[in-house]
Amino acid sequence: MKTFEQHCNEVAKSHERRKVYFPSNVDRKWIIEAANNFAYENVVEALKLSGDRLNSGLSEKEILNEFGLKAKYGLLSELGASINAYSLTHQMLQHCKKRGLEVYDRTCIADINYGNNTITLNTSDGNTVQAKYIVNATGFEVVNFIPKKIVDFYCTYAIISENQSEQDVPWKDQILMWNSDDPYLYLRLTKDNRILIGGRDERFSNTITRELFLNRKAVQLQKDFKKIYPNISFKTEFSWCGTFGKTKDALPYIGTYVKTPNTYYALGFGGNGITFSVLAAEIITSLIQGKDHEDAALFSFDRK
Ligand SMILES: Cc1cc2nc3c(=O)[nH]c(=O)nc-3n(C[C@H](O)[C@H](O)[C@H](O)COP(=O)(O)OP(=O)(O)OC[C@H]3O[C@@H](n4cnc5c(N)ncnc54)[C@H](O)[C@@H]3O)c2cc1C
Repeated sequence: MKTFEQHCNEVAKSHERRKVYFPSNVDRKWIIEAANNFAYENVVEALKLSGDRLNSGLSEKEILNEFGLKAKYGLLSELGASINAYSLTHQMLQHCKKRGLEVYDRTCIADINYGNNTITLNTSDGNTVQAKYIVNATGFEVVNFIPKKIVDFYCTYAIISENQSEQDVPWKDQILMWNSDDPYLYLRLTKDNRILIGGRDERFSNTITRELFLNRKAVQLQKDFKKIYPNISFKTEFSWCGTFGKTKDALPYIGTYVKTPNTYYALGFGGNGITFSVLAAEIITSLIQGKDHEDAALFSFDRK
């Protein structure tokens, strides 16, 4: 079984090989602030298991001096990454188009019919696509295509500040930060010196309710920031929210589902879409070629 670190490295390497430009820094350390000793021990254990090169536990004083955070426990980890996912996706599509990929943007698959040797996909505007195999990567909307309950829905919120002046950046090395509270909170800096803060998740998926909550959640996130960094001015420029799926074990679903023949699923649930997309591509390629993959069982629909 590969470690999380090996998979992250493969993501970085495969994009390098294909000369895809990462619009942001890829190698960033990240700091995790743990709410209590129990949470701290759990995170240390999880990182060790994942093969992460854990730099060190940080003392209260170090956390305060270097990152301006008041926290009892903190971990500085070697393995972190940040990219502009939108830009990366478009660059990958452009790259693949040169090799023959056809992209049909804004095309909704309304239903899928399974024949003996052919799968027929009907689009919502009346077109039909026939295929021998399909890869379904529709995220949480996969619930429209399979009856098995595999995912719970949450809404998550984020805000971003106006550009900060250099001296208003409160922590060093553009470290990514995450705390282990429930709900969690994460913080990061963008290349143009904006502070992004997100979290405040709620367990529901109704898009109308989700949007109604947005203003309130944006204010709460701004207050969360103020609590952590009372001396830094933070003016929210944009706020947004989205739905994401969590699974029982926080892992994605990758592979086949017994009731939908010749269909391969790449579902990056649990906030792990990008890292697991490379793994999904590897596993699905192996399965279509009739080969085994050493990690396939971990992500299968039949896992316990
Ligand atoms: C606000 C927010 C912030 C997040 N922040 C982070 C973060 O900082 N770091 C991180 O790692 N993850 C983050 N995530 C989670 C991350 O976005 C997901 O893990 C990832 O996008 C899942 O990838 P996916 O490919 O499985 O699905 P998705 O990215 O959801 O892609 C599914 C695609 O399928 C399309 N689709 C659905 N149904 C159909 C259909 N019937 N026909 C045609 N197309 C269809 C959708 O339009 C969509 O383009 C965040 C999520 C949200 C909502």
